[in-house]
Amino acid sequence: MTDPRRHIPRTDALLADPELAAAAHTLGRDTVKAAITRAQDLARSGRISPGEVAAHALAALPGTASSLRPVLNATGVLVHTNLGRAPLSAAAISAITAAAGPTDVEFDLVTGARARRGRDAMAALAAAVPEAGGVHVVNNNAAALLLCALAMAAGREIVISRGELVEIGDGFRIPDLLRSTGARLHEIGTTNRVHLRDYAEAVGPDTGFILKVHPSNFQVTGFTSTVDTAELVGLGAPVVVDIGSGLLRPHPLLPEEPDAATVLRAGATLVTASGDKLLGGPQAGLLLGAADLVERLRRHPAARALRVDKLTLAALEATLRGPETPVAQSLSADQAELLARAKQLVAELTGAGVDAVAVESSAAVGGGGAPGVELPSAAVSLPERYAAALRARAVVGRVERGRCLLDLRTVAPQQDSTLLAAVLAVPR
Ligand SMILES: *Cc1c(COP(=O)(O)O)cnc(C)c1O
Repeated sequence: MTDPRRHIPRTDALLADPELAAAAHTLGRDTVKAAITRAQDLARSGRISPGEVAAHALAALPGTASSLRPVLNATGVLVHTNLGRAPLSAAAISAITAAAGPTDVEFDLVTGARARRGRDAMAALAAAVPEAGGVHVVNNNAAALLLCALAMAAGREIVISRGELVEIGDGFRIPDLLRSTGARLHEIGTTNRVHLRDYAEAVGPDTGFILKVHPSNFQVTGFTSTVDTAELVGLGAPVVVDIGSGLLRPHPLLPEEPDAATVLRAGATLVTASGDKLLGGPQAGLLLGAADLVERLRRHPAARALRVDKLTLAALEATLRGPETPVAQSLSADQAELLARAKQLVAELTGAGVDAVAVESSAAVGGGGAPGVELPSAAVSLPERYAAALRARAVVGRVERGRCLLDLRTVAPQQDSTLLAAVLAVPR
């Protein structure tokens, strides 16, 4: 009898292996046991030898106890919703790590007394937008809108243009979100046009607020008209503006994208925005505007259910005070430099026998803002079959006209070697 299955190492023996024991310590015993079982199964079916079981189990273990895999975004979409939106800066990542244990998020180390939660992140946000009398941070932009509707319009009306009834993504719609609070929507105008007189006729004693929603993921062109924030402030109702992307100040490359400072200067009562789009920070909902109103929102009972955790506060403060974010770097990257990097990568790939070409391409901000804006970029173009093979190696490109493009605008220069290694690892 030479049945190889009799030689497959037993689970308890494998768990005693120093490296697997160390992995069980950091990743959890169940995770390691599951990897061992899978490796034993492979040996049982003869696909690996019994002597390889320990090494195979070790190699199959995830890098961390979470099964979320880090991905290299080579799609050319800066704020990619399915890839977790904004990648955090190194400063934000280390702030999260530092805040992970016990931290003074609600504690004053000088007096030993309770302190206002997240005061430093709020101060950083207030400093970034001095136009705002008050600031508050909640779970995301949807939560910010929810809180506005609950605190300012429950049982009352929100005046909103039909051209701004936006579906955000994954089937979620801003009008449904607002109605879920008990507020009524007073829809005005048409899909393509709304006028100041429509707003003026709609505002009355039942109005909670006027809401303007930035069309951040679509464009309406042709016979269109909208009403600027500045024209709405005289109508006798608070004006809330959902700017979407989270730009705090104007960006020279995105002249059409609204920003918090400009909208507040135009007279908006309150601005809401996401933290993880063009701001380049963690998922969060920013509320900026009239101090008394922001305080009312902060003290609303529902605010407790929408609050952010200490990790978000840490990352947000580091994003606001720290060096340029990866999103900002991607946005301002120079096409000639991107093309030079693409040519460098292609030289190495063709040298290794890969069918690779450096091409000019067009990148985009993504669902997070600036619809229709094309950012001139550069890419490594590969045969289409590379798209799936690279995804298996956690590198995500995009397929265009039968080629797999790895767009360098969303790849940091220090990731080029990782990208190169991943392409070279695909069997030719
Ligand atoms: C993205 C977006 C939202 C939703 O923001 P979340 O932070 O994902 O909740 C709402 N309104 C606009 C205009 C947006 O662009």
